Amino acid sequence: MGQSKNLSFMRSLCMGSIEQDMVLPFPQMKVSEKETLSTVFSSFESWLKPKTAEFRKWDRQGEFPSEFIQEMRDLGLFSLIIPEEHGGLNLSNTGYSRALQELAKYDGSVAITAGAHSSIGMRGLVLFGTPEQKQKYFPKLVTGEWIAAFCLTEPGAGSDAASIQSKAVKEGEFWVLTGQKLWITNGGIASFFTVFARTDGPEGQMTAFIVTKEMEGVSCGPHEDKMGLRASSTTTVHFDRVKIPQENILGEVGKGFKVAMKILNSGRSGLGGGCVGAMKHVIALSTKQANERVQFGKKIGEYGLIKEKIGQMVVDCYASESVVSLVAGLVDQGYEDYAVEAAISKVFATECLWRAADEGLQIASGNGFMCEFPYERILRDCRVNRIFEGTNDILKLFIALTAMNDVGKQLKELSASLEGIFQDPIKGFGLLSEYGLKKITQVTKVGGVKSSFSKLHPSLKAQASIFENGVRGLSVAADRILRKHGKNIIHKQFATKRLAEIMIDLFVLASVLSRVNSALSLKKNENQKQNLEKEVEILNSFSSQVHSRIQSHFAKIDDNDDELIKSLADHALKHEKYIWDNLTEPTS
Ligand SMILES: Cc1cc2nc3c(=O)[nH]c(=O)nc-3n(C[C@H](O)[C@H](O)[C@H](O)COP(=O)(O)OP(=O)(O)OC[C@H]3O[C@@H](n4cnc5c(N)ncnc54)[C@H](O)[C@@H]3O)c2cc1C
Repeated sequence: MGQSKNLSFMRSLCMGSIEQDMVLPFPQMKVSEKETLSTVFSSFESWLKPKTAEFRKWDRQGEFPSEFIQEMRDLGLFSLIIPEEHGGLNLSNTGYSRALQELAKYDGSVAITAGAHSSIGMRGLVLFGTPEQKQKYFPKLVTGEWIAAFCLTEPGAGSDAASIQSKAVKEGEFWVLTGQKLWITNGGIASFFTVFARTDGPEGQMTAFIVTKEMEGVSCGPHEDKMGLRASSTTTVHFDRVKIPQENILGEVGKGFKVAMKILNSGRSGLGGGCVGAMKHVIALSTKQANERVQFGKKIGEYGLIKEKIGQMVVDCYASESVVSLVAGLVDQGYEDYAVEAAISKVFATECLWRAADEGLQIASGNGFMCEFPYERILRDCRVNRIFEGTNDILKLFIALTAMNDVGKQLKELSASLEGIFQDPIKGFGLLSEYGLKKITQVTKVGGVKSSFSKLHPSLKAQASIFENGVRGLSVAADRILRKHGKNIIHKQFATKRLAEIMIDLFVLASVLSRVNSALSLKKNENQKQNLEKEVEILNSFSSQVHSRIQSHFAKIDDNDDELIKSLADHALKHEKYIWDNLTEPTS
């Protein structure tokens, strides 16, 4: 309540402040939206559930038939985030994430086709479109007559998106676009493209454009033959001297990189929701399998090693659902600086799903390896989640470096303030930055630093203190890493990743704490009370896992084998192979 909408929970956390009002209470979906979605999901169920065999067939064929895409249109799958006045469902970020969760339970390719349209393809129009642009394009997008795609990646520009070579040059009243985009989801079925191109000039280097299929010079390549999500369309998209009118610029000329990043950040709850849906599906499949399969005279679900896998899936799914919902809630509440939190939710949910898919296949074992069963397809489908919309590795660097940038700035201020202290001790104290004061209050325990999660239910004290201790450790660790490496931190990826892993765990723990806290405050019937007991068990398990992981990361800041690993990598990179072989090794 009354929070500045410019705050970032994680950026504050790295300075030692717990902005608890940002994450409490846990965001709830509006009742009216719940009602809308219940109706929509019933129609999903009656339409998608009977298609299980067809999804398998289309996966093998590597393409959806056009009749099925038409069914997706008829079901309104392309209208999810479009405002009501344009005929759309106008779902909030929370509602949209929940809708993708539902679709992903049935089929990954369906979820990605609908998701790429709304999460990234036309989100630029929603976020940056002028009233005229919206008036012009929403009517076709809402029905799915025009499906949308997001065109950023190029052969030479993947993670390094700023290095794109597609170019748009102003010629008279038009911008003339030439370039090639790679691996574009919906590329073969889209008519509306959000395209990023260089427009080198004093305003900046990249601009976002709305390009439509009907413009001369737009074409796409054949369907890519992919490992997973095979039925969804992925193609190259080519632009050969495409004439784009000035009014098709999205946002401002030269501000395209910001537009791209805002689209990706804002769309992350869709991908996260999809991961949660797929995890729920895996848990349903795995528990059924574990209850039915008998080995050594017992159902395999009775064995500890199977329970370990299933229990972990439940913890991971609940934690992912919590962090994805919390981030969607931050977006819905109008917070503007949620890029780090959104990246955390993407990394965490995609890694949990990958683990669940792998363990689900392991529980099914031989059956899991057979294409007749769904496990191998789920594993193939979910692998790309850790790659697209920013690889998890790059996102981890982003998460930690963004936070350290803030800490670095404050450290600079602090040292300037401290110089002031030595020059004039009395006046100098007045010059101490907020960060300096926080550091001093952390050491002396005096002062108003918000470093406790005080508004949580008293029964959550122990779990909250794991979080609070982690936050104190994080702020000290960020400080220590920066003092150790200074500006060179940008080249210290092992240390940066370690910090990111701590930040990811802490934010997800904050999400789980917030969710269980809200659950504790609600009135419940007997059944709901039993569910709540299980939620507290999940929190206990997750907080204990977070505690051991972050302690291990803290310990490794100064005591690690980073240099050895780097040296071994350099050796392998130099020889481009593993050199040892018992055929050629000397014998005694
Ligand atoms: C199925 C599919 C659908 C896609 N859909 C779209 C789409 O609709 N629109 C679109 O624009 N793009 C799309 N993409 C592209 C996707 O976003 C990129 O694949 C992704 O951004 C990674 O780029 P890359 O594959 O070129 O990997 P690279 O950037 O070449 O990275 C290779 C490896 O190096 C690592 N790496 C790179 N730089 C660094 C660094 N500085 N430090 C440490 N590690 C580094 C990466 O983490 C990765 O592990 C899609 C991709 C796939 C596979």
